[in-house]
Formats: sequence, C-alpha cells, structure tokens
Amino acid sequence: MKPETTSRIWHPFTQHALQDETPKIVRGDGAYLYTADGRRIIDAIASWWVVTHGHCHPEIVAAIRKQAEQLNQVIFAGFTHEPAEELAALLLKLTPPGLDYVFFSDSGSTSVEVALKMALGYWRNIGEPRSRILVMQHSYHGDTIGTMSVGARGVFNAAYEPMLFDVTSVPFPERGHEQATLDALEAACRGDNPAAFIVEPLILGAGGMLMYPAWVLKEMKRICETHDVLFIADEVMTGWGRTGTLFACEQADVSPDVACYSKGLTGGSLPLAVTLCRADIFDAHYSRDRQRTFFHSSSYTANPIACAAAKANLGLWQRQETRKQVASVAVMQEERLAAFRADARFRNVRRSGTITALELDVPDGGYLAGIGPQLQSYFRSRNLLLRPLGNTIYVMPPYCITAADLDAIYAGISDASDALI
Ligand code: PLP
Repeated sequence: MKPETTSRIWHPFTQHALQDETPKIVRGDGAYLYTADGRRIIDAIASWWVVTHGHCHPEIVAAIRKQAEQLNQVIFAGFTHEPAEELAALLLKLTPPGLDYVFFSDSGSTSVEVALKMALGYWRNIGEPRSRILVMQHSYHGDTIGTMSVGARGVFNAAYEPMLFDVTSVPFPERGHEQATLDALEAACRGDNPAAFIVEPLILGAGGMLMYPAWVLKEMKRICETHDVLFIADEVMTGWGRTGTLFACEQADVSPDVACYSKGLTGGSLPLAVTLCRADIFDAHYSRDRQRTFFHSSSYTANPIACAAAKANLGLWQRQETRKQVASVAVMQEERLAAFRADARFRNVRRSGTITALELDVPDGGYLAGIGPQLQSYFRSRNLLLRPLGNTIYVMPPYCITAADLDAIYAGISDASDALI
C-alpha cells in the first residue's frame, strides 16, 4: 500500500516501497545540506560525486547569475557562444595532451554514448567498419541502453538485458592478478577486431569503488595503442581531483584517444558533460559528404549557463589553493582509515586520492546486501549523507570538508557497524 503522503515523483535508484523518509532539502552551503525541518546534513558523497568545491560556491553562483541575464540558451548546431568557446579552450589546456576537440552533452551517460558513437563513426568513416567494444568487468558507465551495454551486467540492468549489445569483457585487475587482465586485453585486441576499449581509470565507482594501480592503466593504454584500438577514458567520476590529480589518467601519464568528463565539470552546480577526442577522430567526420556528419545532439547542448558555471569551476582549478585543498582532504581521509584497517568488522579498507571505501564484513555482500538499506537509514538518522553500495561504504566529500566533519562521518560509520552487525 502506497503511503498517503507519497508525492507522485518517481526518484532515481530508489525503491519507494522501502524508503522510510525522503528528506526535503531547502538549502546547500559548503559541505552541508539543510532540510525543511531544520536539520543540517553532512554531504559525505558530494551529492552523487558531483559537488567538488562545496554547495553553492559563491564564484560559481555569481557566474551562473551573470550568464542567466545575458544569454541563457541558444541552439548549438550551427551557432556558438563565448562561454562554450572559452570553456573548450580551457579544457583543451587542462586535459591530457592529444585531445584536440570538445563535444558537449548533458550528463555522464550521454558523454559515454557520444564516445562510443565517435569510435564507431571513426572506423566507419575511414573505411574499416568496426563495432566491438571491449570493457572491464564490474564497470559502470551510465543507465542508457548503450552505457548499460558497456557496463557490468547484473541487478542494475537485468530487466533490459535483451536490449543490450554484446561486448567483450576483460577481468578486473585484482591485486596480484593484474597480468590476467593485460593478457585478456591483448587477446581481445588481437582477436576481436575491436573499435575501442572503454575504462574507468584507477577506480571503478558504482561497481564497488574498486581500485587498481596506475601502471595497469598505463599498460592497458599501451596494449590498445599497439593494436590500434581506441582507448576511451571514462573520467566522469574520477575527473576533477577525485583521485588526487585533476584527472586520473595523469597518474599513469596516459593520453586517451577519447575522454569523458561530467559530474564535477560545473563544480556540481548544473548538468553538463564533454567528450574530448583526438584530431583524427574529428577529421574522419570532416567532409563535404553530409553522410559523414557526427549525428548527435541534445536540445540543451552546451547550454550557456552550464558552460559559464564550468568556466568558473575551471577558474578555481587554476589556483594552487584548490590543489592544496584536494591534497589535504586526501591526507585527512587517510588518517581516519588507520583505525578501520585494524578493525575486524571491516575488509578492504582502501583509498584513491580523496575517495575512501571499505566493506562491512557481512555474510551477504554485493549491491543488494540486506545491510544496505539499514545503513542508509542509520546514516540519515545521524544527519550524514552516505549511500553505501550494498555493504561497501565509501566517503567522497566536497573538498571544503573539515576535519571535524570527517570525524563525524567516520564515527557514524563505526557506530553503524556497532548498531547493525
Ligand atoms: N560513468 C561513470 C564512471 C559514472 O560513475 C557515472 C555515474 O555515476 C556515469 C558514467 C553516468 O553519469 P550520469 O549519471 O551523469 O549519467
């Protein structure tokens, strides 16, 4: 029976039959969210990994306000505008060398769809059609049909399986078994005539915050390069400082052929995404033959207000203070993990840059672990926004988080374990 008070809004990734409370948020400020009934919640997951410098960062808000009064939307097919032009130029300066063109879209999923379409379009337009995509086990790239196809098959997409296209998956590089991943990638590159390999660099997010070392990323890129397979880096989650560097690929000195960025691109203020690519991928579509056009768009492509917000965000990244803040969050996070490493209730205590993750040692693990919803409501009762992936608890805060807030978050995690297992 649906509760009388339920609004008619269908929330994402939410089982309404089990949701005990849906807090109404009226304001955001820094690392905090404020509810209509006067509570202050610490946002320990940056509102789904998007809020980098804190909620309502004044410089980003000012840029949005200014742009909204000037030009708030214009068709981007055949037209351009200053916020998009300046943003693209800045992105090309900040991203790994070799990325020469910027294609705008609206979300992480669409940026990945664009990447896949660029890859297939490239091969077709140079007269060597290829369509097979190589992927990594446990990956997540979004919830559209294409992105689900290149993501792990499981509970997230079981109902849609008949619509998903076939891919070749290489094993996740478990510690001590990295060579198996590299061998599988090499074999798939040789055997399957693939168009591209898509991967989340250094850390697989929704797949369980699974981390692997930079040398594996570097090797995977080398293998793809050797076999002329396009290397797509999905930095939708890892971008904008999350792994300690601006982009995860920097740590492996990898220049992807195609790269996807979203989430923190606007500092978490507005939806926007970009897919960057090598010049020859653009060139393969550049022709007087209209059939070679890159047929992709959405109505709000390169929305000027979102571009202005992203430009303000990139401005913040030009400052040393921002990078220092990222380094300091990484240190503060590491310090708090020590106690958990020595605690038998937890397994796989780990960190990549500003992200930490650990598993509660329960008999039924995985995304549907029974403990998941209990943990979520416990954290809500402590005014902490944490959203475990089953029994995997992770902390991915905005970079303005304080030591005291982190203490409160980790005390909540420890107490939840006392209370629930
Ligand atoms: N790619 C990765 C690595 C992600 O983590 C996500 C979302 O979490 C996506 C793509 C999809 O992004 P969006 O939810 O903005 O569509």
